[in-house]
Amino acid sequence: MKKTAVKRKIIRKTKNAAVVGAGPAGLTAARILAEKGHVVEVFDKRTTVGGNCIDTVNSDGILIHNYGPHYFRTDSRKLLNWLSKFTKWRPASYTVKAEIDNELVSVPVNLNTMIQLTGDVFDQADFKQYLKLHQVSIKKIQNAEDQCLSTVGGELYEKIFKKYTQKQWGKTAAELAPEITARLPLRFDFDERYPREYFQLLPRDGYSSLFSNLVNHPNIKLALGREVFARDIRALKRHYDLIIYTGPVDQYFDYKYGCLNYRSLRFEWKTYAQEYKQPCVQINYPDRYDYTRSVEIKHVTGQRCMKTTVCFEYPTDEGEPLYPLLSEENIARNHQYQKAALNERHGTTPVHFIGRLAEFKYYNMDQVFLRSMNLTKMIAAKGK
Ligand code: FAD
Ligand code: UDP
Repeated sequence: MKKTAVKRKIIRKTKNAAVVGAGPAGLTAARILAEKGHVVEVFDKRTTVGGNCIDTVNSDGILIHNYGPHYFRTDSRKLLNWLSKFTKWRPASYTVKAEIDNELVSVPVNLNTMIQLTGDVFDQADFKQYLKLHQVSIKKIQNAEDQCLSTVGGELYEKIFKKYTQKQWGKTAAELAPEITARLPLRFDFDERYPREYFQLLPRDGYSSLFSNLVNHPNIKLALGREVFARDIRALKRHYDLIIYTGPVDQYFDYKYGCLNYRSLRFEWKTYAQEYKQPCVQINYPDRYDYTRSVEIKHVTGQRCMKTTVCFEYPTDEGEPLYPLLSEENIARNHQYQKAALNERHGTTPVHFIGRLAEFKYYNMDQVFLRSMNLTKMIAAKGK
C-alpha cells in the first residue's frame, strides 16, 4: 500500500471522543480509548482530575481527602493490576468506630461491638442466639429500615442506624432503599475492618497522583473548568464520533422527567497541634451532633508529623451532588432517565452513560472503574 493510502486509512480509523467528567468513570474510559488510538478530549466543570476521589496537601501540610474519605477496596485482581500501571500502593487498615452513649464501639457490627455494647462475653453462638431473638422476620425487604430490622434487629438498628441514617439522608430509613444500609457487613468474628472486600489499599502517593498518571497520554487533552450543559450536547455530537457522559443524567436531559435529588456534604476542617486527635480514621456519631462523622485520614495515609487535620461532615441538600438519594420517587424517575440514556447509544454519535452520577447509583470507586473498563473495551471492540 502506498504511504498516502496508509496515512488516509489511519486518519479514517482515528476517532475523536469527548468524555464529560474527569472522575474515575471518565478517566478510565479516556485512558483505554486513548491507548486504542482514539483522540480524547476530557471536559470537567472543576479544574482538578479525579472527581470526588482527589486528595491535596492543605495549608498545614497535611494530606487530606477533599470530598470525604476514600478507602480503596476491591475484590478484583484485574482492576488492581490495571491501576498498578499508574500507582504503587500502601496497605491500609480502615477501622471505624461509632460513638454510642459516650463510648466508642466498633462498626460494622462484629463480636467486639456486642461485647462493647453489652459488657457481656459474646462468642459466635451467643451472637447467633442474640440475632435470633432480635431479628424481625420481614417477607419482602422494601426499605433500609426493613433491611436493618431483618439483619441486626431492633436494638442495634436504634443504636447504630436509625438516627445516623436520618441525619445523613434527611429522610427516615423507611423512606430509603435497602441497599444503603446493606453496604455494611455483619460479622460473626472479631474482624474490625470497615469494608468487606479482599484488597484494602491506598495509592502510595495519593489519589491525585494516580489520576494525573492516568491522564498522562499524548492522545488525551484536558478541557478543565468546562461544564457541559444539555444545550451543549448537540454541538458535542457534531464535533466528536463518540461521547462518554459521566455527569448527572438528569442534567444531560435538561431535567425532562424532573430533578433527581442528591445528598451533599459540607466539610469542616480543623487542624490540631498533636500527632493524632482520634484513635482511628473514622468516628461515626449516630446519636449526637449535626455532623455524621469525623475523619482523620492521616491514620491511613501514614504521614508522619506532629500536626493532624480532622474533617467533620455535615449532610446537606445544597452543594455538589455527592450521593444519589435512593428514594422510591427518585428510583422511578431514574428508570425513565436510564431508558432515555440507552437510546442515546444508537444515534449517529453514540453517547454512553457511566458512573455514579450518570447511572444514579451508589457505587464505590472500584465498581465505577470496572464498569468503565468493561464498557470502553466493548466500545473499542465494536468500533463505537
Ligand atoms: P465522580 O467522582 O463524581 O466524578 C464526576 C466528575 O464529573 C466530577 O469531576 C464532576 O466535576 C464532573 N462533572 C459533573 N457534571 C459535569 C458536567 N455537566 N460537565 C462537566 N463535568 C461534570 N468510594 C470508594 O470506593 N471508597 C470510599 O471510601 C468512598 N468514599 C466516599 C465518600 C464520599 C463522601 C463520597 C461522596 C463518595 C465516596 N466514594 C467512595 C465513592 C466514589 O467517590 C465514587 O464511586 C467515584 O468518585 C465515582 O466516580 P465517577 O467518575 O462516577 O464520579
Ligand atoms: N450507616 C449508619 N450508621 C453507621 C454507618 C452507616 O446508619 O454508623 C448507614 C447510613 O445510612 C449510611 C449507610 O449506612 O448512609 C452507608 O454507610 P457508609 O459508611 O457505607 O456510607 P458512605 O461511606 O458511603 O458515606
